Amino acid sequence: MRMEADLVVTGGGLSGLCCAVTAAREGLKVILVQDRSVLGGNASSEVRLWILGATSHMGNNNRWAREAGVIDEILVENMYRNPEGNPIITDALLLDKVISESNISLLLNTSVYEVQKKDADTISSLNAYCSQNQTTYELTAPLFCDASGDGAIGFLSGAAFRMGAESKDEFGELFAPAKEYGELLGHSLYFYSKDTGKAVKFVPPSFALNDITKIPKFKSFNAQEFGCRLWWIEFGGRMDTVHDTEKIKWELWKIVYGVWNYIKNSGHFPDAETLTLEWVGMIPGKRESRRFEGDYMLKQQDIIEQNTHTDAVAFGGWSVDLHPSDGVYTDLPGCNQWHSKGVYQIPFRCLYSKNISNLFLAGRIISASHVAFGSSRVMATSAYVAQAAAMGAALCIKYNCRPADLYDGDKITELQQRLINAGQYIPGIVVKDEDDLVQQASISASSELLLTELTEDETPAALDLSSAQMIPVTAGQIPRITIHAYCETVTTLKAELRVCSRTGSYTPDESIASFDLALNPGRNCLRLDTDVSPGTKQYVFVLLHKNPAVKIARCSSRITGILAVFNSINPAVSNFGKQDAPEGIGMDSFEFWCPQRRPSGQNLAMKFAAALPGFSASNIKNGITRPVLSPNAWVADFKDKNPSLTIKWNQPKNIKTIQLNFDTDFDHPMESVLMHHPENVMPFCVRNYRIYDDKGKMVFEKKENHQTRNKIVLDETLVTSSLTIEAEHPSVLTPAAIFEIRCYS
Ligand SMILES: Cc1cc2nc3c(=O)[nH]c(=O)nc-3n(C[C@H](O)[C@H](O)[C@H](O)COP(=O)(O)OP(=O)(O)OC[C@H]3O[C@@H](n4cnc5c(N)ncnc54)[C@H](O)[C@@H]3O)c2cc1C
Repeated sequence: MRMEADLVVTGGGLSGLCCAVTAAREGLKVILVQDRSVLGGNASSEVRLWILGATSHMGNNNRWAREAGVIDEILVENMYRNPEGNPIITDALLLDKVISESNISLLLNTSVYEVQKKDADTISSLNAYCSQNQTTYELTAPLFCDASGDGAIGFLSGAAFRMGAESKDEFGELFAPAKEYGELLGHSLYFYSKDTGKAVKFVPPSFALNDITKIPKFKSFNAQEFGCRLWWIEFGGRMDTVHDTEKIKWELWKIVYGVWNYIKNSGHFPDAETLTLEWVGMIPGKRESRRFEGDYMLKQQDIIEQNTHTDAVAFGGWSVDLHPSDGVYTDLPGCNQWHSKGVYQIPFRCLYSKNISNLFLAGRIISASHVAFGSSRVMATSAYVAQAAAMGAALCIKYNCRPADLYDGDKITELQQRLINAGQYIPGIVVKDEDDLVQQASISASSELLLTELTEDETPAALDLSSAQMIPVTAGQIPRITIHAYCETVTTLKAELRVCSRTGSYTPDESIASFDLALNPGRNCLRLDTDVSPGTKQYVFVLLHKNPAVKIARCSSRITGILAVFNSINPAVSNFGKQDAPEGIGMDSFEFWCPQRRPSGQNLAMKFAAALPGFSASNIKNGITRPVLSPNAWVADFKDKNPSLTIKWNQPKNIKTIQLNFDTDFDHPMESVLMHHPENVMPFCVRNYRIYDDKGKMVFEKKENHQTRNKIVLDETLVTSSLTIEAEHPSVLTPAAIFEIRCYS
């Protein structure tokens, strides 16, 4: 059967899926071919990995770093429908996402096995076969995207690729690994267990590992951990992870059944008596195989030094996370994670093959060194990058050109602008959209938050952890800060004001003022006053060093762009309070200051001599849809009973589309499986809003919103000289906030 499209995407993992949906929304006809019966790749119920990216389980210094666009919609929706993290529900959600796009033809259970080329560097079509309906497909398009994980299309078409680690010299990467970390990352298979409430016997299959001591860390197993918390059940890093994958899978089955036999039958785990195996993976999760070469290869320095690129289209923020090649059979730590001080840009030149002219790359195969791949490989990052490949495809169709031709000033700017319009956040890049009618309008609001106080409304809690309140300041002055501290004995509280040495990042590595505050028993009123003037607007960390003898009150309000962080540890992502990098590996040493998951993580109560900046109504047209150097949102005042924002033009405008961006907490990682989340709608998100025209007629109403981005396409073009948006406060603790509003004719 012959099918034609503008873009054929091979691989229905999150990268392929987000690529296909983004391209389809840009008007491209897309064929999405997936060799399995569900979508999601490693995030599907077949493998069951939680989707992660720059937020890194909330365990590093990347604030407000969750990826935007389609991957954000997926994570926010999964949180809404599935806060319990049931992978079956995620499967259905992903299928839903794709079949809702009329421009996508989805071929499930269909494997691409052959590539036809028009000439040495151009693919003309793919052959694919579905064993379920015994149909062979010929898929023709001007553009192809390889999101198959192993790079099936790239390999079959002769695209330049690599396998295994680079040497230090090639890219000057000081962390280019030694032998034990230097081959490939292996595969993993997981199991789920369940409590039946009665004794359950387990007879292991003949192929189960019978000597558990072959796994040096076998003492780490317990009866309660399962699924991707056991990510270190890994094998195959010294094998050919493409052609030996079936052999690797058998070894992993051997290990998994051996581990379960140990848990059930060793006698060490009485709490396993009533447990049974509910599920064992059939398809191994693959971490690494081929990496393809684009016109640029992302390298360690791009991540750690946060290099900027004129063609930046996405960002990453997971650590450089390499694993020992012997996997579960070594006593080395299961991984080696090195974090950057903040998120890093990913350039467009990494997203297409350098020698196959019409082939986009998406997912773990993008053009990155082995070290850089250690960070870019995670799913939310891969999916985010894939959205940029899709937008590149839309421009290639528009200009009838090759991906490489987009790397020139105007086209790259257009690519960035269209991405940002579709919701993508690219650190450091703001491109104004001339077609956005809001840019020509004046903006006013019924109120703007005047934040002079984070009110003391929670019982004071001991300063068991060093804690910091992040506050936005403008260039020029930090307002005097007043904090109340409680203690029973005389003590000294050490406080500091810190900033990040890198603009737009949130590692508080530069102290700009410090205070030794003498406290007497009782309530102490502390004043932090400094004449240090920050050169630019940015976040300042009001930092209180750990002192368990001191109690500080918390504030229960949750406000867009206002956050408390703590110098705590999160071993899951190698955060032990501080990253201590040995000399010579090209990694930085710094402290980790991270938020706490709700219901904890309240703001620290304090007063400011002047209202904090950053909440003005004009923010809705500044082109940035998350807090960066300031909250970047219109935030209404708590006292405003009926918050509203008005967009006014000198002349009536024709409006067909309105886009609004709300705050769904870009700090929340929203792990998709296994982890239970206490809330299914983010507390900052405006739920109910109404839009009125210049005659006061309601033109749109939304109730119970939970999504970040609301794109409203009106049935008929609206002619009006103003729009008023009434946005209800999400709760008494959280004032209404809107990051962005755009209008198009
Ligand atoms: C054990 C393990 C733990 C990990 N931990 C995490 C984690 O905690 N969080 C995280 O975000 N990432 C994690 N990663 C990394 C992440 O899962 C992968 O890097 C990511 O899935 C890569 O995305 P992808 O879209 O390139 O590939 P995949 O998710 O593998 O998707 C590729 C899809 O293409 C399909 N396909 C392959 N060949 C063909 C073909 N010829 N025709 C049609 N379809 C084809 C496959 O069936 C698959 O569904 C982990 C990986 C592993 C293996």
